[in-house]
Amino acid sequence: MNHLQRFQFLDGAVRGEICQLSEAYQAVLSRHEYPAPIKGLLGEALSGVALIAANLKFEGCLILQIQGNGPMSVLMVECNHLGELRGIARYDEAEMALQTDHSWTALAGQGQLILTIDPEDGERYQGIVALEGESLAAALAGYFAQSEQLPTYFNLAADGQHAGGLMLQVLPQMDESQDDDLWGRAQGLAQTLKKEELLGLSAEEVLYRLFHEEQVELYPEAELRFHCSCSRERSGNALRAIDLDELLEIADEQQGQIEVDCQFCRQKYVFDSIDLRQLHLPATDAPNSVQ
Ligand SMILES: [Zn+2]
Repeated sequence: MNHLQRFQFLDGAVRGEICQLSEAYQAVLSRHEYPAPIKGLLGEALSGVALIAANLKFEGCLILQIQGNGPMSVLMVECNHLGELRGIARYDEAEMALQTDHSWTALAGQGQLILTIDPEDGERYQGIVALEGESLAAALAGYFAQSEQLPTYFNLAADGQHAGGLMLQVLPQMDESQDDDLWGRAQGLAQTLKKEELLGLSAEEVLYRLFHEEQVELYPEAELRFHCSCSRERSGNALRAIDLDELLEIADEQQGQIEVDCQFCRQKYVFDSIDLRQLHLPATDAPNSVQ
């Protein structure tokens, strides 16, 4: 169960999305040994980024990043136009062990929410707001209120096995013939959704449970999955930016090789001195075998 479904209220300018993750979420968690509260927040963040990425109108990636002064210093998740997700969290184990409060505000502390839109062709766009609210869902709603001026509601949940999210958003072009109360009504209904329901029921069941008195059109499901975009080529590109002599010196100290570890999926890419020299050949002379 790793999918996202869009829906639209027929009598007003409100649209929504619901996503549910299990294997994709578990694949992200399996790469690291996270404590339970961090697992939960990663699940919420993966759901949140998948919901927002569903609106990407181009090929590329959406990156959601939380940087705070709490024990969890970084929470970073990505979703691209293919529904490929990855994520990582950094936290201070000792500091977390000292705290009994593992709520969102206690773990993230004060900081920023950064949303980066990274198209394959075109310029990156980054929006930054201060973290506010008692949950990641509230922080994301705060982002849309401040940065996009679009009333947006998020309900996010995760339990270490399953993760899910529901998003509602007012469409930018409200016209007068539309139902003015719909936003308040839809949001009020969405707030009654319990964590067990979001994680345990099917998307159709959730939407029926919440909005059976409204006219809602459901769109086909889109698949989500775990996929890390790292590659030997990308790691090589990162090394190419470093001076060759410096790289060879580092390699000398490490049994003649440099190991590049992907932070997200833990894949290791090993470059020996021959690889490093090849990387630094002028582009036209570089053999194609560097992959
Ligand atoms: Zn990777």
